[in-house]
Amino acid sequence: MDLGIGGKRALVCASSKGLGRGCAEALAAAGIELVMNARGAEALEDAAGAIRAAHGVQVTTIAADITDPAGRAEVLAAAGDVDILVTNAGGPPPGLWSDWDRDDFIAALDANMLAPIALMTALLPGMIDRGWGRVVNITSQSVKAPIPVLGLSNSARAGLTGYVAGTARQVAPHGVTINNLLPGIHATDRADALDRGVVEAEGITLDEARARRAATIPARRYGTAQEFGAMCAFLCSQHAGFVVGQNILLDGGAVNATL
Ligand code: NAP
Repeated sequence: MDLGIGGKRALVCASSKGLGRGCAEALAAAGIELVMNARGAEALEDAAGAIRAAHGVQVTTIAADITDPAGRAEVLAAAGDVDILVTNAGGPPPGLWSDWDRDDFIAALDANMLAPIALMTALLPGMIDRGWGRVVNITSQSVKAPIPVLGLSNSARAGLTGYVAGTARQVAPHGVTINNLLPGIHATDRADALDRGVVEAEGITLDEARARRAATIPARRYGTAQEFGAMCAFLCSQHAGFVVGQNILLDGGAVNATL
């Protein structure tokens, strides 16, 4: 399917690996010029080089922490006017409700709620002026069904979801859509880190931890970054202009809900 967005420009945050990279790859395949970001310069350059070679698109890289105001300013200055924004950052650490104090919540809110809001605040006006824009926020299935061990994530991402629900309706009249993608378990470094936590806590092997988790997913496997990126690219396409303020779950059926 021709997504109808060739030649547009996208900022894909936190995109040297995992789900962000999947989104960058799929947008590049649709002919999008990319601005890619991550903290680690080496992996970022590797990813950008691979994408240039595979898709022949222009890729600008900015190694910076997207959750830090100075890092974000650097990214935004290099990005300039973009038509598409994909927000993403690492997720908060797991723990127990009694582990966290105010500083832990502020850090989680900064990374997974206020950073994407700041990016939207900076880039939505240009999209509105040009009469076209797409924003996709990578959140989590924890917005639909809480993951008890990820209380910091549950809280921060629920806040972002509330913000998007209202804001998406305010910008839609200008041809700009905002939607959220909610990953269930995908085979990335993040999933690996969570599985390694189970290995340590329960004294089982990594394969056992993965098999145990895969068994809880009706699709009986982890999702891939490619599948995730394809859905992101569709939401950014010309065909998705009527999809506004939605929370789209990609979880292999793991959240057991009718709606
Ligand atoms: P990942 O494989 O660990 O990749 C994270 C990417 O983000 C890397 O490129 C990393 O590069 C970059 N990054 C992390 N923190 C950053 C920051 N502060 N500033 C700029 N770049 C940053 O993670 P993932 O699995 O793709 O997860 C992406 C998001 O989806 C996370 O918020 C995660 O919690 C959420 N999620 C993932 C799953 C899953 O199963 N994978 C499920 C639900 C939700 P650097 O480290 O070099 O910065």
